[in-house]
Amino acid sequence: MAEAVIFLGPPGAGKGTQAKRLASEMGFKQLSTGDILRSHIARGTELGQKVKPILDRGDLVPDDLILTLVHDEIAAMPNPKVIFDGFPRTKAQAEALDKLLAGLKTPLLGVLLVTAPEEELVKRLLNRAQQEGRSDDNEATIRNRLEVYKAQTQPLVDYYTKTGSLREVNGLGTPDGVYQSIQSALGVEV
Ligand code: AMP
Repeated sequence: MAEAVIFLGPPGAGKGTQAKRLASEMGFKQLSTGDILRSHIARGTELGQKVKPILDRGDLVPDDLILTLVHDEIAAMPNPKVIFDGFPRTKAQAEALDKLLAGLKTPLLGVLLVTAPEEELVKRLLNRAQQEGRSDDNEATIRNRLEVYKAQTQPLVDYYTKTGSLREVNGLGTPDGVYQSIQSALGVEV
């Protein structure tokens, strides 16, 4: 059966790690728009060259570019089972995703809001900077990404609360503990 899950939350909350594990255990495709953009940048594609300065600043890539990417990834799937990680990030993206999922007859299992206190997020992102060397994990960009999250993505908490899809999960604790909270929030045992 076609189904979708959304991971929402600030940078550093652990969405990527958790989304990857849930996707592999549930047999879903993890769709991280950030990973797709970084892959374009690494390959030096036209899109990659266009978006690199945006990622380096920590701003959001324009909605139309993101929506084209997501559409290309899932519109051709006969029976989509997708975990969205880092998408949607604006109200326009959320509305477009609603339409896309309705057109593909794909119900939303839930929207997982993974949160942690801001200083913990900054600490984790600076730590990741040392380990992975992501060019947008420096302190100035991290602070901007958190501001952009609050201004543009946090309003989606209201959006998905109103539709009854939101499930809040505490992102503090061990990865295993957070994963268990995610499973019970979704009502799935895998
Ligand atoms: P992430 O890996 O999800 O933290 O995303 C890294 C960066 O990619 C963000 O700071 C944005 O510049 C860009 N990005 C990723 N997903 C989106 C999206 N859904 N909408 C706009 N920009 C995005």
